[in-house]
Amino acid sequence: MRKSSSRFKTVCVFCGSSSGKRDSYRDAALELAQQLVSRRLDLVYGGGSIGLMGLVSHEVHRGGRRVLGIMPKMLMSKELTGETIGEVRAVADMHQRKAEMARHSDCFIALPGGYGTLEELLEVITWAQLGIHDKPVSLPT
Ligand code: AMP
Repeated sequence: MRKSSSRFKTVCVFCGSSSGKRDSYRDAALELAQQLVSRRLDLVYGGGSIGLMGLVSHEVHRGGRRVLGIMPKMLMSKELTGETIGEVRAVADMHQRKAEMARHSDCFIALPGGYGTLEELLEVITWAQLGIHDKPVSLPT
């Protein structure tokens, strides 16, 4: 198999646990997932099977890339419905979730989402500002 030419191997995607009201949110999620597959990049995400999270993870997995979800035990019954996609690792709480998502990825991309997505995005931006990591953070336009 040909190797990724990117300096990144694994991308952390923050996105909504619902699909949102506009089709463009779903379109953006699918387009990003297809980009990851075509660039041979793996995915780290929150581990949910619902909303845009489910859509992105399903598409990346379907494209043959590695999918790692990080899910707090307390959210399993809420955000995981049906079959799990790829590997889902259980963690103790939300703080550990974000730390693990950051640890396993080379950069961060935020798609449309709600308060959870915003919180995750702001935390990695502020961590970069504080020098806790030097990984790029992107908001696709
Ligand atoms: P939302 O954008 O609100 O739909 O949430 C997207 C994802 O962010 C969901 O998986 C939430 O469980 C997650 N989330 C919400 N708040 C936090 C938090 N403080 N730390 C980590 N993940 C969170």
